Amino acid sequence: MGLPALEVEIVGMGRFPIAGYAWYRDDWLEPRVGPPFHLHQGNDVFADCGLPVRSPLDGVLRLTSDPLGGTTVYVTQADATYVYMAHLSAYVAGQVSGQTVRTGQVVGFVGNSGDAQGGACHVHFEIHPLGGAAVDPKPSLDRWLGDALAGAPRLVALYGGAQRSRPQAPIATGLTPRFVDPSVAGPTGSPGPPRAELLWASAASPSGGPLQLAQAEVADLVRTPGWAQAVAQAEYQVRQWRQVDETVLRLLAPTTPPALRYLFVTPGSW
Ligand SMILES: [Zn+2]
Repeated sequence: MGLPALEVEIVGMGRFPIAGYAWYRDDWLEPRVGPPFHLHQGNDVFADCGLPVRSPLDGVLRLTSDPLGGTTVYVTQADATYVYMAHLSAYVAGQVSGQTVRTGQVVGFVGNSGDAQGGACHVHFEIHPLGGAAVDPKPSLDRWLGDALAGAPRLVALYGGAQRSRPQAPIATGLTPRFVDPSVAGPTGSPGPPRAELLWASAASPSGGPLQLAQAEVADLVRTPGWAQAVAQAEYQVRQWRQVDETVLRLLAPTTPPALRYLFVTPGSW
């Protein structure tokens, strides 16, 4: 399955803009070739293609597209402060420019559109306080991540009851997105409906069962000791997997029929 884990992250990740495992560093003002040449006006938050992208604030949604940013969203709050999130793979069906969205609401999905085409999936993330020039968003991203972790005990307290009454099941966290790909479902699992549709169904019905299940899962997730360390470890593993992929591809690709080459690539594209 693994789907509940994604729902968990929609509920549990606070204001952090990705519902799932993501990594970023301070690439603010790094030179970018463009075109045009520019200094990086945000942070690139890398995550698996297709993970939900969440609004970090209450505001008005604007859906745009351009050659550089590809499929992009703006969310502007009442004081004109806005965020810009680019290179998405898709919008949420039914959402339109001009509608309001709430903090944490899913407003799109991670991708590599625009000038990120062919590259690693990520969200180019900008913050413009009071509608002015962009500022380094990393302190905000760090704080939101920290808040999500710090809020964990409260979530545990709130949803502890649900947790106890829930049937035990292996917990697939966002740290293991590669193992929940529907195309590699194990012998016990059926692929089930497309991930994005279920996520949307869950996000659209806050009182519904899936969300309650997700809240129970939050409790499980945050109960895990050393979650932050686990994230760091997972990042290391991702790099290792990527290296293995590249090595295997390099060695075997020349002698492998093209139709079978997908076998050597970790599910989920980079
Ligand atoms: Zn960027």
